[in-house]
Amino acid sequence: MACNSANCQSGCYGDEHSVKEDDEKRLPLPEYGVSPRGGDSNSGGLCIKCKVNETIAATHPAVTEGGGDRGRYCADCFRSNFFGKFRFAVTSNAMISSSDNVLVAFSGGPSSRVALQFVHEMQLKAQKNFDASRDRQLPVFGVGVAYIDESTIYPVSSHDFDGAIHQMELIVASLAPPAKQFFVVPTESICSHDFAAGRDRLTELVGAVSDITGKEDLLAHLRMQSLQKVALENGYTKVVLGTCTSRIACHVLEATVKGQGFSLAADIQYVDARWKIPVVLPLRDCLSEELNMFCILDSLKTVEAFQQPRSGINGLISSFVKLLQEENPSRESTIVRTAGKLTPFSFNRIPEVGDNDGHLATKRRQKKYNLKPNESLPPESYCLICNSPLKKPKSTNSNCFHDGKTSSGIYASTCSSCQYQILPKDPTSLENFFSLVPQSISALAKDSRDNQKLLRDQIQDCLLSDSDDGT
Ligand SMILES: [Zn+2]
Ligand SMILES: [Zn+2]
Repeated sequence: MACNSANCQSGCYGDEHSVKEDDEKRLPLPEYGVSPRGGDSNSGGLCIKCKVNETIAATHPAVTEGGGDRGRYCADCFRSNFFGKFRFAVTSNAMISSSDNVLVAFSGGPSSRVALQFVHEMQLKAQKNFDASRDRQLPVFGVGVAYIDESTIYPVSSHDFDGAIHQMELIVASLAPPAKQFFVVPTESICSHDFAAGRDRLTELVGAVSDITGKEDLLAHLRMQSLQKVALENGYTKVVLGTCTSRIACHVLEATVKGQGFSLAADIQYVDARWKIPVVLPLRDCLSEELNMFCILDSLKTVEAFQQPRSGINGLISSFVKLLQEENPSRESTIVRTAGKLTPFSFNRIPEVGDNDGHLATKRRQKKYNLKPNESLPPESYCLICNSPLKKPKSTNSNCFHDGKTSSGIYASTCSSCQYQILPKDPTSLENFFSLVPQSISALAKDSRDNQKLLRDQIQDCLLSDSDDGT
């Protein structure tokens, strides 16, 4: 049963089989499975939930991560709590519907491994329900897996590469039925249809960024573009990322340092539908130490061959947040909750479908989870490099880049962070640099801008002017 105890500090969501949807409440806010300092001891050595089994600390002494949960739960109760957290994020934000085709971004690391496992388990359950139902009306959502191959930028030996890809293939194949397609997508595929030309162009593009942080950020943007491309080309309707609380906490501080305050709220929500294929973050409430512990308890294989240490500002902040978390195990959650006070953008929810049924479902969900109807306005423009919403349309002609490719046009259509960390300072090399930026980035950003503009035009009469809203 779902835990209703007032002093439960576990972020208990009940187990997957017993939670009735109507019992799920938006409040109280999840505690992310983190107890206050010193509150995790359990002198009896028995699980505080089932009160029958021994705690993980007793049964798995080798597991050192996992914070307070080790000393409070048995492996079974931890597992059902943890899956419940994932499932709650998925259902309360309408991340996956039965007609979806879901692409899980898989890096080989623990976060995306757990995301893949949980999406698979949801699919398996949907399949069982489908097989058991008489009318067989609700289809089972599809699942695919994509690995973004960055070996052009971070070279690895072909022996290591082949071995790691083979391991990933085995992992994906072990999660069947239903069978899941596995894609290996080289980043350069977004630069050109021709493999060698794409490789040259990507190398030149990344090589032109002198700032080490800017280089890493550019690659992150290209990774998202690659995911969008493979999702779009293969009929996927959602992209699932394994981004967890710990990663988001780092992003909050990174964005603060980089001056991305305006767009920060866009990046840290459960749903990010500014892309053609909406991106969802079902592990937003999970800590990396919980994910690591889960992988050990469930013997989930991870593939670490390609994991790159973070560098520059991102690397400094990763180690800083790690220290904070060691000092107090609720720091990461606190950072994310603090940033969570920022108002999300209009695209931070699954777009409403046109049909009446979908609309009713959305209304029901809004009522159930006490979500406010979408009142925020779509941004007017997006950075042409990273697709961050821009505060003001700096350019009067939104097509100036596509028409003129002038350096002033480029500056007007990019965010300050990309200007400072990614764009070359010299105006002559700026235009050459921009000619190397994959077309899909500009095209996707432009498409979403056009859609948002259409929406804006449709609701124009209801909008307050800038002078009316007091800002
Ligand atoms: Zn238990
Ligand atoms: Zn940008």
